[in-house]
Amino acid sequence: MKVLVAVKRVVDPSVRVRAKQDGSGVDLANVKMSINPFDEVALEQAVRLKEAGVASEVVAVSIGVREAQETLRTALAMGADRAILLEVLEGQRDIEPLSVAKLLAALVGQEQPRLVLVGKQAIDNDMNATGQMLAGLLGWAQATYASKLELAGDSAVTTQEVDGGLRKVKLKLPAVVSVDLRLNEPRYASLMNIMKAKKKPLDVKSAADFGIDVAPRLTVLKTYEPAGRKAGTKLASVDDLIQKLKSGLEVS
Ligand code: AMP
Repeated sequence: MKVLVAVKRVVDPSVRVRAKQDGSGVDLANVKMSINPFDEVALEQAVRLKEAGVASEVVAVSIGVREAQETLRTALAMGADRAILLEVLEGQRDIEPLSVAKLLAALVGQEQPRLVLVGKQAIDNDMNATGQMLAGLLGWAQATYASKLELAGDSAVTTQEVDGGLRKVKLKLPAVVSVDLRLNEPRYASLMNIMKAKKKPLDVKSAADFGIDVAPRLTVLKTYEPAGRKAGTKLASVDDLIQKLKSGLEVS
């Protein structure tokens, strides 16, 4: 069974992003980029499925600018067998979920995987939409927020955290599953595997060749920093605090 994993290149989660002064977006100059953390989990799961003899091939795919090849090399170092970049132009940096889903659907047509794993959300835009749209476009079953994934024969069973407990969902393959952080702990790529990954196939295709309109449908009106916190009040004693609370004054 072939497993396709969608991996997005995003600003590294440890970086404190800053809004540009003119409000036109976040400043990406000299910022460290990484694989989207949820996609790392998706990839780890696919590699474990291969190691368990359930998956026959793991293909990592990214839609992005040329530099996304670095992200795909990381995916290869973590254990993907091969990678595909659907390259977009520099000016098209953040392709919206519907366009990503359409491109992925076209690639699914070419690659014919039985399972597509995606992250539950990309941490740069928090859309949480691509997997659902992809399943809709393909007419496939989908499960979201998987914190456990088991495959047996022609079906998959996922566990999802819901209010007050866990919910198990059975779905027929082929399917799209979006994964949550709790599913597993991704491995670090060893130096040896980073070296080996350099020789693994990474196919670069032009996204434009798919004939899909990737023009944005949303207009970002403004990006700005959250308001700073008000300065706190220092009180002399607990009695003072109680007095303040009783008088209904705001204590910050
Ligand atoms: P989103 O709907 O943007 O929050 O993204 C959800 C998931 O879709 C991500 O975790 C990725 O697995 C996948 N995805 C979104 N955008 C891309 C992209 N440009 N390239 C590859 N995968 C993507």
